[in-house]
Amino acid sequence: MDCKQAGIDLHIHSTASDGTLSPVEILRLAETLELGAISITDHDTLKGSRDLLEAAGSSVVRVLTGIEISTTPPDFCKIEGSFHILGYGIRLDDPALNQTLETLQHARENRNPFIISRLNAMGLDITLEEVIQASGEAQIGRPHIAQLMIKKGFVRTIDEAFEVYLGFNKPAYVDKYKLDCQKAIEMIIKAGGMPVLAHPALIRIPESSRLESLVRILKEMGLQGIEVYYPEHSAENVEFYIRLALGHDLVVTGGTDFHGAIKPDIQLGYGNGDFFVPFSVFDLLLKRQQTMV
Ligand code: AMP
Ligand code: ZN
Ligand code: FE
Ligand code: FE
Repeated sequence: MDCKQAGIDLHIHSTASDGTLSPVEILRLAETLELGAISITDHDTLKGSRDLLEAAGSSVVRVLTGIEISTTPPDFCKIEGSFHILGYGIRLDDPALNQTLETLQHARENRNPFIISRLNAMGLDITLEEVIQASGEAQIGRPHIAQLMIKKGFVRTIDEAFEVYLGFNKPAYVDKYKLDCQKAIEMIIKAGGMPVLAHPALIRIPESSRLESLVRILKEMGLQGIEVYYPEHSAENVEFYIRLALGHDLVVTGGTDFHGAIKPDIQLGYGNGDFFVPFSVFDLLLKRQQTMV
């Protein structure tokens, strides 16, 4: 494999959060697909990244540690979507990072019974114990609940579960505690990593100029990059985000947000088919990290 010609995928979820492939299965699939580099970016947990690093010893696929943190935006900024900060190249044993992630994990655990109660109140026969049993060792999120809802015949697809019950403003939606974006950015930097704004199109800020204001403020907080390449980004989005990155001295990253069977239309490395992130993105990201030390 000519690694410089290979594609990469820097946004992947494993069974440690809400993906359906284990880190080792992801690594083997990346090898089969001849990807040049991958990063597992599980929600609020380092377990997937840790297991991947352990497994990747002699693999031809390069591996970068990763995390995806759900955050709250600065005060001025009203968002309607998902405001997530990715962290790349972090030290997995950083005490402050691990401690904060534990708090976020507890917040998730505390939220699950409320979601189940709401579903029960709507007449759906489902228990938390069933979800836990069906999810193995994973940190439970809404997709696990959605999967069990399919199995029990309440809905046909994950999308339907979110659309009718679990999504934002739907009857079984329960907000979860999120980390302040400045804290997330500082924590990633202290752990030796690079904070990157995830999938800007999913943040859903009404006007593009407001995204520019947000990026400017995040950059002042220490942001290092923008996830420009993402399956749901249009060609216009990509063009605008590249200009935004260049204008604010930020690196460009990209990945598919692979979740295995939970997002069946998204393939590792190739998204919905014509998606491709060049290896140079990985090289530039590593170079950026060297400038930060
Ligand atoms: P949670 O971590 O429990 O807040 O759930 C968030 C996860 O649910 C995201 O990472 C997505 O993978 C998934 N998700 C969110 N909205 C939808 C949707 N409309 N359809 C399918 N999956 C979704
Ligand atoms: Zn997810
Ligand atoms: Fe995300
Ligand atoms: Fe993600």
